[in-house]
Amino acid sequence: MKRKEYLDWKTYFMTVAKASAMRSKDPSTQVGAVVVNRLQQIVSTGYNGFPRGISDDDFPWEREGDFVNTKYPYVAHAELNAVVASRTDLTGCELYVTLFPCNECAKILIQAGISKIYFMDNKYDNEPNVIASKRMLDAAQISYELLPDLKIEILINDIKMD
Ligand SMILES: [Zn+2]
Repeated sequence: MKRKEYLDWKTYFMTVAKASAMRSKDPSTQVGAVVVNRLQQIVSTGYNGFPRGISDDDFPWEREGDFVNTKYPYVAHAELNAVVASRTDLTGCELYVTLFPCNECAKILIQAGISKIYFMDNKYDNEPNVIASKRMLDAAQISYELLPDLKIEILINDIKMD
C-alpha cells in the first residue's frame, strides 16, 4: 500500500518557498518564492536579499530613517530573484510565494508571463502597494489564491530512511 501522508503538490511547492525564505538575511521579513512549470517542475526559487555583490554586512537592514539608509532601495524581492534566476521562458508558469507580491513584483510577474499566484500571507492587504498590485493582476487576468495554513513544520521529521 502506498503512503497516504505524502505531500500534495501545493503543499510541496509552498514548503520549498518557505525553505527558500529561511535563506533571507532580512531581520524583519523573510519571503520565499518558487516558480513552477506546467509539468509541476520547479523552474527556479528566490528569496529577498541584496543583489549579488552587495554586502549583507555593509548595507542597511533598517526600516526607518533616511530612505538611502533603509533596506528599501537595495533589497531585491523574492519574486524578482526567482524570475531572474530562471533560465527558461516562464509563460504559463505558476508562482508560489509566502507573501502577497508588491506592485513592483506584480509588474515583473505579469511581464514574465506568470499565469497564477499562490500565496500564504497577505498581511499588507490594505496597503497602497498591494492595492495597486491587485489592480494590475486583475487587469492582466492573473489569478491569485490564498493557500490555507499548511502543516509544514512537522514534515521534515516525518520522512523515514529504513
Ligand atoms: Zn515585491
